[in-house]
Amino acid sequence: MYFYKNQFLPKNDIHISPDDRGYYFGDGIYEVFRVYQGTLYEQEAHMQRLQRSASEVRIELPYTIDKIGEILTELIHKNALVEGTVYVQITRGEAPRAHPFPAHAEPVLLAYCTTVPRPVAAMQQGIQAITLADIRWLRCDLKTLNLLPNTMAKQAALDHGVQEVVLHRDGIVTECSASNIMMIKDNVLYTHPANHLILHGITRAVVLRLAQSLEMNVKEQAFTTEQLLLADEVFITGTTVEITPILQIDGKRIANGSPGPLTQTLQREFERTFA
Ligand code: PMP
Repeated sequence: MYFYKNQFLPKNDIHISPDDRGYYFGDGIYEVFRVYQGTLYEQEAHMQRLQRSASEVRIELPYTIDKIGEILTELIHKNALVEGTVYVQITRGEAPRAHPFPAHAEPVLLAYCTTVPRPVAAMQQGIQAITLADIRWLRCDLKTLNLLPNTMAKQAALDHGVQEVVLHRDGIVTECSASNIMMIKDNVLYTHPANHLILHGITRAVVLRLAQSLEMNVKEQAFTTEQLLLADEVFITGTTVEITPILQIDGKRIANGSPGPLTQTLQREFERTFA
């Protein structure tokens, strides 16, 4: 069961207008929630980010945040979802193709859930990555539908036979195709500051809180690709990837090439936030 416009209905009964601005312009915003044990993880943080993305691109949410929460919870129940994800997007609405924001379009909400499992093998065994120039715009803090650079980056990684891509601007590491990145060097945890160049990941925030409560030294400070290759531990964070170690970048091993002890500690602590 999906939710589209104002109702729950089977996917095949949804009719999407070619005039939806999401289709022409990527003119919309979205969120992806993890569902653990039938409940939305970090619901409030995701809702706040949804609200912020909407207001920054001047899309009026079609419902209150509370109502959206109710819709998503009902979606979970209707689909008897225990573990998976919930996707919700809001486009600016339907109007004949023209750049200016339409005066009267009604924003359209689409939501559905998946049973995508936790990436247990990748979290245990780690993944490999390549570095690539971050060619995105300067509002990467907004979760908009304009994901072509992200999909191209991910495909570049797959074409190189690795799973992920580490994006950088002039050598400064920003984030990955659909996750944030952190590195540990000499017991200090580094990650790019939450500014306009990265998405302010909910998982990133949870991990930083956990690291602080473990009395780890945390620095929201940018680092270079060279520093990254010399790190003791590297991992990515995200709703779908949780905390996944990166063991090799551009064909070079990170430290001894196995998941590091602090990464594993953070993974254990992270599991305790929803188990
Ligand atoms: N950066 C980008 C570009 C992303 O698409 C995502 C996934 N939403 C993240 C970071 C991680 O954010 P979160 O932890 O909120 O899923």
